Amino acid sequence: MGSLHVRELSIGYGPVRALRSVSLDVPAGAVVVVLGGNGAGKSTLLRAVSRTLGFHRGAVTAGSISFDGRPLDGLTPDRVVAAGVVQVPEGRKVFTRMTVADNLRAGALGGRAGSRADTARSLARVHELFPVLAQRARQRAGLLSGGEQQMLALGRALMARPRLLLLDEPTLGLAPKMAATIAETITEINASGASVLLVEQNAALALRLSSHAYVLEVGEVTLDGPAPELAASDEVRRRYLGITDEAAPDPAAAGARRELRRWSA
Ligand code: ATP
Repeated sequence: MGSLHVRELSIGYGPVRALRSVSLDVPAGAVVVVLGGNGAGKSTLLRAVSRTLGFHRGAVTAGSISFDGRPLDGLTPDRVVAAGVVQVPEGRKVFTRMTVADNLRAGALGGRAGSRADTARSLARVHELFPVLAQRARQRAGLLSGGEQQMLALGRALMARPRLLLLDEPTLGLAPKMAATIAETITEINASGASVLLVEQNAALALRLSSHAYVLEVGEVTLDGPAPELAASDEVRRRYLGITDEAAPDPAAAGARRELRRWSA
């Protein structure tokens, strides 16, 4: 399992400053979550790690990112994948016209070097985690439900044999039961050998899954700590879990609640 260290990272999209001096750690074997509202910079952070910012016309303006002590700065996205850092992008982005089996094969192409036996083992593991992907191997991926497509996106990433998985809102738009299934699988994937950096709008679910959490607001880390502590903090309960103290009505909090209600499980 790999460890990630982000130090004082700043990022801009032309004149737009998306991240300001963000520092964050994913220790080897951990599940770490980043919470934050729309536009906080969560996807930007993951893009910086996977070195895909350039596809979005963004650039790192300061700071550093290292994986297992080696700087990722300067690597091409394919080299980052080959190093064991694999991103599941927001919105799944499976190849809808290809079959489920071919999507999984594609995932193995750029991953960490391995033998045919390694690939076969990865496929068996993906099928064990997601039996539906074996049952529907010959169907076009576009025919799968949203939840099944998320399973395929995760399965495709696992075929690259990741040591660190970057997950961008994996439960977004899924029914609660499917979101819970995906969450359980993330725990299993972590237990069988990958560190996880998770960006999630579903704060209640994400805090249950993770050991450490960061709150990102308008490009800056405003709060971080062990997940149980954050889950118990007034700030997180009020803003991200939609739990309010009836005794202390606060008009600002009421506004935030309206905006953030969809964050609760
Ligand atoms: P969401 O949950 O809505 O995806 P997010 O926390 O992932 O939000 P980002 O997508 O990282 O946020 O966006 C951070 C900031 O950067 C926002 O102000 C956004 O408008 C801006 N931004 C993101 N992508 C681009 C881009 N390609 N060009 C210009 N600005 C961008």
